[in-house]
Amino acid sequence: MFDTLSDRLTSVLSNLRSKGRLSDADIDATAREIRIALLEADVALPVVRAFIAKVKERAKGAEVSAALNPAQQVVKIVNEELVAILGGETRRLNMAKTPPTVIMLAGLQGSGKTTLAGKLARWLKGQGHTPLLVACDLQRPNAVTQLQVVGERAGVPVFAPEPGNGVGDPISVARRGIDEAKHAQHDVMIVDTAGRLGVDEELMKQAADIRDAVTPDETLFVVDAMIGQDAVTTAEAFRDGVGFTGVVLTKLDGDARGGAALSVREVTGQPILFASNGEKLEDFDAFHPDRMASRILG
Ligand code: GDP
Repeated sequence: MFDTLSDRLTSVLSNLRSKGRLSDADIDATAREIRIALLEADVALPVVRAFIAKVKERAKGAEVSAALNPAQQVVKIVNEELVAILGGETRRLNMAKTPPTVIMLAGLQGSGKTTLAGKLARWLKGQGHTPLLVACDLQRPNAVTQLQVVGERAGVPVFAPEPGNGVGDPISVARRGIDEAKHAQHDVMIVDTAGRLGVDEELMKQAADIRDAVTPDETLFVVDAMIGQDAVTTAEAFRDGVGFTGVVLTKLDGDARGGAALSVREVTGQPILFASNGEKLEDFDAFHPDRMASRILG
């Protein structure tokens, strides 16, 4: 996903290598090129501005170092600032003191929520947890079946409304999901919620009602990295309408520009916890800002 950005940044930064000392003009010219590369990759403008200001300030103020030549120093600064916009440290999941830990997923339809529910369940199971999937996407006819399919693949049970019993009422299913998790001693429950094609008030209200019913330890906003600048506007809408404690980037295997997704952390102030990069359940991992920055800088 970040190949073009990565190529651009690598080439801008490698141009510096032929220079000995860097003048302020050299730094300004480099900063301008980095700015263009980030904007072309779809990174949100305010994020780019802040990033460039920081890089310029630090590069101009950098002490002459015996260990690094000027070009290496700029690379180091760009790398550190990239890590910073991606969230700095890896943020782990918040686990409840008293189980079950409740993780609610929210996002647009097609963002990859249901797939993510299976991926996260499989990942948690691999870490020794005993997750339960709870089907609260009752809007889309196939959503419950789809969750059951990913649950089966992940080897994780799914709590879903029985036909005729609470169908159409995701809030009641969410509540009963907690009872089931306690009863069957699941230490984590993952609540899949409905997503519409666009942000709408009814969707936000339903997600907020489910949130109030289950008081999640984590509400994860799931966002398709392929949707470009809409990733940022959608994130803001979910932040204001439902609130979330973390972000999951999906479809990082796509060939869109992806920079908007990289802006979500800065724009919303919430950390990216996980990244999805394929349709298979194993195409998934915790998000590490430093690894992502290294990948982008090639
Ligand atoms: P939901 O509507 O938010 O529940 O989204 P789904 O989980 O149904 O995913 C929508 C589509 O995106 C499905 O075809 C998934 O297979 C696909 N998908 C989900 N995550 C990824 C990913 O990380 N990479 C790719 N390439 N496809 C994905």
